[in-house]
Amino acid sequence: MASGKILKGIGGFYYVLDEQRHIHECKARGRFRKDGVTPLPGDDVAFVLEGESYGFIEEILPRRNELVRPRVANIDMAAIVASADKPLIDYMLVDKLLISIVKAQAEPLLVINKCDTAHDDMIEEIRAQYQDACSTVLVSAATGEGLDTLKERLRGKCTCFAGQSAAGKSSLLNALFDGLSLETGGLAKKTDRGKHTTRHAELLLLSDFSGTVVDTPGFSFFDGADIAPEALYTYYDDIAPYADTCRFTSCVHAGEPGCGVKQAVEKGEINADRYQRYVALLKELQERKARRYD
Ligand code: ZN
Repeated sequence: MASGKILKGIGGFYYVLDEQRHIHECKARGRFRKDGVTPLPGDDVAFVLEGESYGFIEEILPRRNELVRPRVANIDMAAIVASADKPLIDYMLVDKLLISIVKAQAEPLLVINKCDTAHDDMIEEIRAQYQDACSTVLVSAATGEGLDTLKERLRGKCTCFAGQSAAGKSSLLNALFDGLSLETGGLAKKTDRGKHTTRHAELLLLSDFSGTVVDTPGFSFFDGADIAPEALYTYYDDIAPYADTCRFTSCVHAGEPGCGVKQAVEKGEINADRYQRYVALLKELQERKARRYD
């Protein structure tokens, strides 16, 4: 039996990359369907070859994580593409994506695009907000600046890309994968969204086989419905460490007396803007929860 990773599934066929970097067209054994299991891109599998390049998937190894949108398994890292120039970074969106990524137990990476035309102040502001929350890398899809550093970060990992529309996600993926023609969603093309939403998620191999990237039309898996307001701060890597110093164990860090988080904000140890948005999102989740029991 051979082992490999599913890159994509189309019409009941799964394309499995083996350890020798060969791709095999496989079908899943019928019992998967009977057990209600759907093989997903990213799944590590055991398979048997029936011919030279086709075979059957016999076993799906336990998943480390599983995303719903896109439907993929075993994501190591999720890269958030944000723009330091027009359209300017949407901080709340980045915060929400970070929460989803931390919750999925994947490693977050903030990719700051358009650094060739952005003001240095803007880049510094973004860095200041996220330096304690996740790693960042500066790139320009237009000039190729920073792409080598980004490729280095993708090495040995399966990475998903997220980002607000027109932040340059598609251009960046095009630059990473020579010859790949993803639809680039520039500002003018905003109305075209939804046109290609039926495409399936697929893992793209970096040219030197050092890693894979999930190519997917939409990635916005935050909805907050499954997050308890009192647990929200645990998904903030820059805020959570200070919660130990709060007077009350039930503290949600929204103005309670003796709050260690608030003190850290006042001392400049936690970025104040990031904290403000945390409080705003907390209120949103609390209101939603209250409405649910009306
Ligand atoms: Zn607190």
